[in-house]
Amino acid sequence: MLETNLQETALKQGVSRRDFLKFCSMMAGVLALPRSYSTYIEQALAAPKRLPVIWLELQDCAGCTEALLRATAPTVSQLVLDVLSVDYHETIMAAAGDLAEAAKQASIKAGGYLLVVEGSIPTGDGGVYCTVGGKTALQLLEEAASNAVAVVAVGNCASFGGWPKAGPNPTGATYVSELVTDKPVMNLPGCPYNPVNLTAAIVHFLTFGELPAMDDLHRPLFAYGARIHDNCPRRGHFDAGEFVVAWGDEGHNKGFCLYKMGCKGPVTFHNCPAVGYNDGTSWPIKAGHGCIACSEPDFWELGVYNLADLQQYAPPTTYAPVQLPTQKVDPATAGVIGAMAGVAVGAAGVAAYKALSKSDEDESAPPAQNAKK
Ligand code: SF4
Repeated sequence: MLETNLQETALKQGVSRRDFLKFCSMMAGVLALPRSYSTYIEQALAAPKRLPVIWLELQDCAGCTEALLRATAPTVSQLVLDVLSVDYHETIMAAAGDLAEAAKQASIKAGGYLLVVEGSIPTGDGGVYCTVGGKTALQLLEEAASNAVAVVAVGNCASFGGWPKAGPNPTGATYVSELVTDKPVMNLPGCPYNPVNLTAAIVHFLTFGELPAMDDLHRPLFAYGARIHDNCPRRGHFDAGEFVVAWGDEGHNKGFCLYKMGCKGPVTFHNCPAVGYNDGTSWPIKAGHGCIACSEPDFWELGVYNLADLQQYAPPTTYAPVQLPTQKVDPATAGVIGAMAGVAVGAAGVAAYKALSKSDEDESAPPAQNAKK
C-alpha cells in the first residue's frame, strides 16, 4: 500500500497547495457539484490509498491512450493517475511478456480494481481479429471483468463499437456494456474520450465510493447531460440564420454556425463547450469544424456532411409573448446583442467548468451521487 497520498505527491512535484485546492475545486465543477464539495474531494485524495487499475487495449487505434498521455503537462490532473496503481496497461507499462501477464493475473486474483477498457471487442470468426498472448479480446474482457468493482469504457469503440462496428462490420465488433452485464459499467465515449472526464469520474469514485449518476446510455450526466448545440458559442448565429456554406467563406471567417457544413451539435451530448480538449485549449467547433457526434452511438454512420436531424431539436414555432422595447433598435445593434447572447451561453459553460457558479446551499454532507444502471 502506498504510504503517501495525492496531495503529498503533488507538493513533492512542485505543485503548490493552492493549485491542489484549485484542482479539487475544478473537479467539483466538472462533476457539477457545489464548490464546497471540493473539501470532500480534498479529503478523499488525501487518504493514503491507491485504486488499482487494469487498462485493456482491445480493437482500438490507441488514440484514447494517446489522449491520456498528452492530456496535460505534469499537473495534479496527471498525478491523480500517478497515485492510482495502474497494474496493467500494455502501452505504457514497463513490463512485457510473462512479467506483464503475471502482474495482471495478480491484480485479478486480488480483486477490488477498476477495469478500464479501450477499443471494441471483435466477436466474429471466434474472435481471431484481436488476440493478445493467445487470448481473444472477448476472453481478455471476461477474465479482467470477473473481479473488477466497476468497468469504465473509454472512447466510442469501447462504449458503442465506434468505427470498427461501422457497416459492414467485418469483424463482428461490439462494445463493453453489451458483454459485461453483471458489473456497473460507465461509458466515456468520444473519439478520443476526454481525459478530464475520466479524471473527474475517478475522483467521484474515490470521494463517494461509487460511479457518478448516468444516463440510459451509461454516460455520466456531469459530462453528457447537456446537448452541445445548447451550449455552443456559435448558437447565436444558428438562431439568427447565419451559416457557413463553404470552408473559408465569409461566414466561416466570421465564426458563423456550422450546421450547414454537417455539424452534429444538435444531436450530440457532451461537455466539449465547457471543458474543451488539450487543457481546454480548443475543441472542434471552436477550431472551425462541425461536431461529428463522436460521443453518440453509431456516429460513424451519420456522414460528416449530412445535416443533423433538427425535427426534435428545433426551437419551438411559438414563443411566449415578450415585452417589446419602446426604442427602435437598428439591425447593427441587434447583431451585437445576438453575438453577446452567444458569448453568454459559452461563458456559462466555462463558468460551470470553473466551479464558480454553483450554489453553496445544502452542502453539509456529500450525498451519494449514484444512479447506476
Ligand atoms: S449547429 Fe453546431 S455550430 Fe451551429 S450552433 Fe449548433 S452546435 Fe454550434
